[in-house]
Order: sequence, then structure tokens, then C-alpha cells
Amino acid sequence: MLLIPCPWCGPREEEEFRSGGEAGVTLPAQDVEAGSSLVASYLFFRSNPKGLFHERWYHAHGCRRWLSIQRSTITHEFESEPVAIGRFAPPRLPTEPAGEPLVSGR
Ligand SMILES: [Zn+2]
Repeated sequence: MLLIPCPWCGPREEEEFRSGGEAGVTLPAQDVEAGSSLVASYLFFRSNPKGLFHERWYHAHGCRRWLSIQRSTITHEFESEPVAIGRFAPPRLPTEPAGEPLVSGR
């Protein structure tokens, strides 16, 4: 079980959180066609690295705020200090890596 360091509440058990998935996933531009591969990439494809993974967590059974943090998918150790996001998660923080589409748009 993970012990997730919430910036507001301190370390709490994983069961109190909901995973927000990969950080840095950005919406495609609004002029992109709905059926394009960029939209499909945004909705369905995520990286699955062996190693460092930048992810978001929502403290659902606590302060109800979002945080962003880097974790090793090998050891499950957190490799960075949590970044406090707040109650509403913006698409991407400046500290989060910009997600690259896995499928190129045409
Ligand atoms: Zn919290």
C-alpha cells in the first residue's frame, strides 16, 4: 500500500485517494476534428513507463484537493515533493511535463 504525501494533510494511505492518472495530458486544440487521432490519443492513450511517472492524485476522503507528484513505477517510491494543485485541477501545471500525443494527427 502506498503512503501518499498530501501537501495539506500529510502522509495518508492510498485508500483515501483517487488516482488522477498521468499528469501533463493536454486537450487538443479546439479546431481539431472530433474523430481525429489527436482526440483519440487524448481520450484513450497514456504512457506506461517503467521508471519515473508523473501523476496526479485526488484526496477524495480527506481535504478533497489535487496534488501532482513523481513516482517510480518500479519501486513505488515517490521521487519528488508533492505539488499542491487545489480543488480544481487545471489541464497542466508548469511543473508537469507536457504530454506528447502518442498518435500523430492527420
Ligand atoms: Zn489531503
